[in-house]
Amino acid sequence: MTANLLDFDLEGLAAFCETLGEKRFRATQLFRWIHQRGARDFGQMSDLAKSLREKLATTARVEGLQVISQQESTDGTIKWLFDVGNGDAVEAVFIPEDDRGTLCVSSQAGCAVGCRFCSTGHQGFSRNLSTGEIVAQLWFAEHFLRQHLKRNERVISNVVMMGMGEPLQNYSALVPALRVMLDDHGYGLSRRRVTVSTSGVVPMMDRLGQDCPVALAVSLHAPNDALRDNLVPLNKKYPLAELLDTCIRYLEHAPRDFITFEYCMLDGVNDLPEHAQQLVDLVTRHGGRGVSCKINLIPFNPFPQSGLTRSPNKQVVAFAKILSDAGIVTTVRKTRGDDIDAACGQLAGDVKDRTRVGQRIAQQRTVVLKQMPAVAATAKETSR
Ligand code: SAH
Ligand code: SF4
Repeated sequence: MTANLLDFDLEGLAAFCETLGEKRFRATQLFRWIHQRGARDFGQMSDLAKSLREKLATTARVEGLQVISQQESTDGTIKWLFDVGNGDAVEAVFIPEDDRGTLCVSSQAGCAVGCRFCSTGHQGFSRNLSTGEIVAQLWFAEHFLRQHLKRNERVISNVVMMGMGEPLQNYSALVPALRVMLDDHGYGLSRRRVTVSTSGVVPMMDRLGQDCPVALAVSLHAPNDALRDNLVPLNKKYPLAELLDTCIRYLEHAPRDFITFEYCMLDGVNDLPEHAQQLVDLVTRHGGRGVSCKINLIPFNPFPQSGLTRSPNKQVVAFAKILSDAGIVTTVRKTRGDDIDAACGQLAGDVKDRTRVGQRIAQQRTVVLKQMPAVAATAKETSR
C-alpha cells in the first residue's frame, strides 16, 4: 500500500522523504506542489529530481475524496458531499463573503456526542476521518474554487471545523490537519482564521492550547447544567464550571483574546429572558472575573426528528439585547445556503446509526417534553 501524502503535515512528509533517502527541503517542495498548486501527479513536479519522482510513483499517492454531489446556493454557498467509503459520506461547505472565503470542514462521519438539536448527532457515530480525509476537503475545495471562480490567488481564507463531527474527539487526526492549514508552505492560514468548534471536550481543549492554539468556538447552548445536560449530553461528563475553567486556561494560549460561545436558539427551550440573564451571570462572573468572550446566537435549523423549533426573531432580538446591555459582544449568525440544506446542523451524509444515538436522543426528548409541556405544544415545522 502506498502512502497518501495528504495524510502528512510538513514534519510527517519530511520524515517520509527521509525514509526514501531524501533531504528535508525536498519535502517542502513536494508539500508546496500538493497544497499550493493542487498537484497530484508526481510527473508534473518539474523541479523534483527524476529519481525522486520515480521513487514517489512506487511508494506514494495523492488521493482526494470522491465527490458524490455538489450544490450551489443562490447566495454563492457551495456544498459538497464526499464519499468516505462503506456507505458513509461527509460534507464541506464554502461560504463566500465580501472580505473572506470560509470553508466549513467535517472531522468525523457522524458524531457520538448526540446533541438533540443537531442532525449529525441524530445519525450516530460511524468513524473518525483520517488527517488526509480532513485535509482533502480543503485541498479539493481550494483548487476547485480557483478554477471555478477563475482566480489565481487563494480563495479560502478561513476554515471552521463546524461540519459533521466533534473535532476534539478525533484529536490525533485533527492536529496534523490544522498544521497543514497553518503552514506557510501549505495553505498559510492565520491561526486567528482557523477555528475549532467543540461541544466541550475539556481535556482535549487543554491539549489543543498546548499543541496547536487556533481560534476556539465552544458550543454552549444553555446557561445551566440541567438544561445543557439535556441538549449536549457531553455536559454530564464535563459540566459548565469545568468547561468555563478550561476556556479561561485556553485564553492564555489562544490567538484571539476571546472565546466564541455558540448558542443555538430553540423556541421555548433556551431562549427566554431568564436564560439570557443566567448566561450573562455565567460568563461575566465565572471564576470571579468571568470569561472574555463573544456570543454568537445561531438560529436553529429545524429538522423533523428533533421535535424542536426555531426561536421567533423577536425572541432572538430580546435575548441579544439582554446580552449586549450587559456589555457582551453578541452577534446573530446569518443563515447561509438554506436552499441547499447547507446551514449548521443540516449536514447529513448517508451515515448509519451504529450507536443507537437516535434512540437515546428520542428518550431524552421525551424527558424534556414532559418537563416543558409548553414546548410540546409549540413543536411544529417552522418555515424558513
Ligand atoms: N461538534 C462541534 C462542531 C460541529 S457543529 C460542535 O458541536 O461545536 C457546529 C455548530 O453547529 C455547533 O455550534 C452546533 O451546535 C451547531 N448546530 C448543530 N446543529 C444545529 C442546528 N440544527 N441548527 C443550528 N445550529 C446547529
Ligand atoms: Fe456532534 Fe457538534 Fe452535532 Fe453535537 S452539535 S452532535 S457535538 S456535531
